[in-house]
Amino acid sequence: MDNCIFCKIIKGDIPSYKLYEDEYTYAFMDIANDIDGHILVIPKKHVTNVLDCDNATLHHVADTTKLISNLLVEKCGYDGVNVLNASGECAGQTVFHLHFHIIPKKNNDGISAWPKLPGGTGVEATYKKLKEMLDK
Ligand code: 5GP
Ligand code: ZN
Repeated sequence: MDNCIFCKIIKGDIPSYKLYEDEYTYAFMDIANDIDGHILVIPKKHVTNVLDCDNATLHHVADTTKLISNLLVEKCGYDGVNVLNASGECAGQTVFHLHFHIIPKKNNDGISAWPKLPGGTGVEATYKKLKEMLDK
């Protein structure tokens, strides 16, 4: 897609710290420099986010996310990872080419990459609506 910054990174038109690529996916360091080891995994096919992504593409992104996450934990001294995705502007998505963020974590590193949520009004409303559709 012409105007997509991540498509340009895949093509090499914009430089990146590329970690890995295969037929379907591309993984590189996030430019934010907000935490050491912040990595993005993207599909080579331009899709906007999880909502419009075909299952096969999503599987490929998940495979590469797992490959890199396992290396971080098994070989790079990390204890776990947060895998984060924003799908939609309302969810905080700023680049509209599907990406999974990998945030490497160490025990007691004092860093929370997990959102602080405000508390809900109960599970029933969403549960009932979705369950009805899923049971059909
Ligand atoms: P989002 O907010 O959509 O979930 O995440 C977009 C991410 O893309 C941000 O973490 C941002 O730092 C990263 N990003 C935006 N532009 C570039 C770029 O040109 N190069 C790299 N490596 N990362 C970028
Ligand atoms: Zn794109």
